[in-house]
Amino acid sequence: MSTVHAVRKGMNRILDGIMQYRQALRPTLLEEFKKVAMGPSPEGLLLTCVDSRVVASRLTQAVPGQLFFVRNPGNLVPPYDYFEKNNIVGGECAALELACSRNNVPVITVFGHSDCKAMNLLYRIRNEISIPSKNPLDQWLKVHAKGTVEQFQKLESSSDFKRKLVFASAQHHEDDFEAYIDPNNEYKPSDKLSQVNTLEQMRHFLSYPFLRERLNRKELQVHALWTDIYKGEVYMFSFKEKTFIKIDENTYNKLSLECNPYK
Ligand SMILES: [Zn+2]
Repeated sequence: MSTVHAVRKGMNRILDGIMQYRQALRPTLLEEFKKVAMGPSPEGLLLTCVDSRVVASRLTQAVPGQLFFVRNPGNLVPPYDYFEKNNIVGGECAALELACSRNNVPVITVFGHSDCKAMNLLYRIRNEISIPSKNPLDQWLKVHAKGTVEQFQKLESSSDFKRKLVFASAQHHEDDFEAYIDPNNEYKPSDKLSQVNTLEQMRHFLSYPFLRERLNRKELQVHALWTDIYKGEVYMFSFKEKTFIKIDENTYNKLSLECNPYK
């Protein structure tokens, strides 16, 4: 296919999609928009990867007004001190303030996935993480996924990746949690890295002072989800079971209990 043809086809698919939306979905969505037009009260923020296969709003069946979505390569949460020390601002930081401080959402969730191209790349460059790169994607990972690599190297050094990982907060040890990554050894190492990354990013949320205040007041919960894009299954990290658990008819009740006791 020529480049010109590919460009035309790409935009035509977007136009076709909008036409289908107008014909099939717009009447229903208009009603939903009307319901939330005057007073939307979003219930959560989901931070996920830019990957075109991660259809987070479909997987969660989110309706208008329900969730904020933030997306970047590898679903990374730059630690707060990165903004503070460098006197810069980033979209993730601003989105967290918009959702959590100005709109008081009660839940923030980091949502990782299998066969993540950013995590596959991080896996390949994990041993050169401290060498700066001029390539923006490499550098993005090198700056913000250092903690992920440190945790993964502990896992990698243990036999069969069986080691228990401890995700410890620098100051607030009540937030520390432990995790077993892929205990049934189903996934390739780069997918294990993706699970480690998802948990490490959940820890990064805790570095934000304005999130910390709401966490201390028990107004906010932080969770982690992970999806296997080939099986179409979604997993939730269970603080109690210390691993990702598939969300299905057998586990739903147990997992929903974990959404209530404060974590
Ligand atoms: Zn990804």
